[in-house]
Amino acid sequence: MAINIDWEHMTENIVDEELFCPICTDPFEEPVCANKCGHTFCRKCIIKTFRITSQCPTCRHTLTIDDFHPITTRPFLNQLNKILVKCKWCSQSNIQRGDFKDHIKTCTKTIISCPAANINCDWKGQPDQMQGHVEVCPLVKIQPTIVELKTIVKQQSGQIRFLYTIFKKTSEHHKEVCKEAYIKTGLIYCDVCKKQFTINEHKEWLHFCPEADICFNCVKKYFT
Ligand SMILES: [Zn+2]
Ligand SMILES: [Zn+2]
Ligand SMILES: [Zn+2]
Ligand SMILES: [Zn+2]
Ligand SMILES: [Zn+2]
Ligand SMILES: [Zn+2]
Repeated sequence: MAINIDWEHMTENIVDEELFCPICTDPFEEPVCANKCGHTFCRKCIIKTFRITSQCPTCRHTLTIDDFHPITTRPFLNQLNKILVKCKWCSQSNIQRGDFKDHIKTCTKTIISCPAANINCDWKGQPDQMQGHVEVCPLVKIQPTIVELKTIVKQQSGQIRFLYTIFKKTSEHHKEVCKEAYIKTGLIYCDVCKKQFTINEHKEWLHFCPEADICFNCVKKYFT
């Protein structure tokens, strides 16, 4: 179940059964434990299991995913870090799991993505081919601009959402207050375009405010 794309366990030498996950039967990865019953599983394994059940796979105790907490006991984690693995890319064996992060940085056979993968460059290759690709990749060149634009768009969408919420709230608040004024004068006044409407001229009016509000036409103009 917990198949790692980068390495495989060399489990022949492990004798300590405490280190194996009962779900995937491999040594734990990111072990989590339920305080209520004390049973431990890999984080990914238990998340998958709890999509279809609400019972501890070992003791059938009724639990939720929130009952599981990451194990932080150092000696236990150290033992897991010392488990030996084999790199699936370069076939180097006897790498301690805890050191694998360092191995993959220098592994010459691993497949890595273009630094512009987040803006849709789908180039993949080995580390020694990367420099050659980066020099010709057009997406790498425009990446800073795109990232900057994305940030601006995100920020502005937030501002628009915020303004729209305020607008809606104000509108709702005024609705009751100004309804009476509308009933008296029979006119709707738009604070933005300075026009007056009768209710018949303005079916889609967001609220009945003859004094200070924005008509639906203006909302359409500025927000879509
Ligand atoms: Zn597992
Ligand atoms: Zn249990
Ligand atoms: Zn390797
Ligand atoms: Zn690229
Ligand atoms: Zn208007
Ligand atoms: Zn009003």
